[in-house]
Amino acid sequence: MYSNNVKFTSDVLFSVKNNKLLDPIGDAMKTFSGRTILKNGYVVDPKNNVESVKDIAMVNGVIVDVADDIPCDKDDRTVDCEGFLVVPGLIDVHIHLGDLFEISTDPIGCAARAGVTMGLSPGAGNTYMAPALLAAEVDRGLPINLGVYLGAANVMGTQCTKEELIKYFRGELSEKDVFSKITRTAITGSTGNVIIGIKEHMGHFLITDEQVDEIYDICNEAKMVFLSHTQDPEHCERIVGLSKGRPVHLGHATAGGTGNDEAYAKESMQRIVDQVKQNKECTAEFVSSNLRPSRGHRECLIMGKAAQQVAYDALADKTVDIVISDGHGDATMKGYGDSRDNVPAILELAELGILSLKDSVATMTANPAAHLAKRTANPWFDKVGNLGVGSMGNVTVISRENKLPMYVFVNGEMVSFENRSIRCGNGAGGWISRFGMTRRPGIGDLTMYKYGK
Ligand SMILES: [Zn+2]
Ligand SMILES: [Zn+2]
Repeated sequence: MYSNNVKFTSDVLFSVKNNKLLDPIGDAMKTFSGRTILKNGYVVDPKNNVESVKDIAMVNGVIVDVADDIPCDKDDRTVDCEGFLVVPGLIDVHIHLGDLFEISTDPIGCAARAGVTMGLSPGAGNTYMAPALLAAEVDRGLPINLGVYLGAANVMGTQCTKEELIKYFRGELSEKDVFSKITRTAITGSTGNVIIGIKEHMGHFLITDEQVDEIYDICNEAKMVFLSHTQDPEHCERIVGLSKGRPVHLGHATAGGTGNDEAYAKESMQRIVDQVKQNKECTAEFVSSNLRPSRGHRECLIMGKAAQQVAYDALADKTVDIVISDGHGDATMKGYGDSRDNVPAILELAELGILSLKDSVATMTANPAAHLAKRTANPWFDKVGNLGVGSMGNVTVISRENKLPMYVFVNGEMVSFENRSIRCGNGAGGWISRFGMTRRPGIGDLTMYKYGK
């Protein structure tokens, strides 16, 4: 006989009784406190040095309480997290979200389901139009906080001098100059500078040493991330050499350890790691797929075991402390990673003993948040990547057995459950730039509403 452990509960579900519609959740929402409480999860919050069973309460998108036991009021909403790992919402500072012409796939939803609560998209082709095009999607409703890097070649494709571009990114270039030297489009001119950084991308375009030098100055003066496309060690050494002490972040650095020649891949990975060791303002990130013992998603570049060991050593001695996916859900081009490898990679780095669980969780939470706070000189980023009171309600709840996110919260809203999207979380995300988060960029509904007078 069929039986079901969910009781017949007309006190919770809407139902018909005595020819009347009962609406218990509708009634409860009339007195809803606004508090969502995550109960009894095993909280790992590296920044606040927490690793124990705790409750977490969120209101209006912000964490308001973390304690051993938060008593629940009948007007609260609770989520049972017993047996699950509760970590700060994953921050993926290199993930392709909508910038690779994915028409038939859903990389943004996939990333949210994979536990990513903030993603920064570095498409090589991102032009000054990219912030408007993607931020319009935030207005239309996305389940993730996202932002973009512009492609370096596109940044240089204007009639501006370097000094003028620095002014543009600081919002100090005159309107006349913006619309005569950069673009004739009002939306592009107004929003093209609301970004997190610039990506130098020799995989797709080749720029001169002089242009690289100018991009360094622009990023340094306008407090933006300089992200480099890292693959062959010669190019990496060139780019780091040109930095002359200015900050440089080596994107998908484990790509340097891929390729068919295992001995060369190992040497190449070592040369790239050495650049980070030898240059104080040089940081790097590793691709989650490359770090998995299985080498993860097979669409990604496959790393040799010897090169992988070099990457493990660099993580263990803290030379590199940021993990990214370089992903999207369903790759359209060979070589990208996959956001679905993030959670397994974090768990496996701890299982292998390469990092403690806390340090492993930090590679996609506290560490990328600290990196962004430092490079943008913006303390807003201290409010992400951790679960402290006052931080954003971004939380990833993980089943260690399944290596899957069970619940994902973005700005206090649940956006996925057991790897399934929850549609009412679709509007939870905001736009990320070096200024922090903007909830409503205004582009997606520009022609629909008029605000104010
Ligand atoms: Zn790249
Ligand atoms: Zn990439």
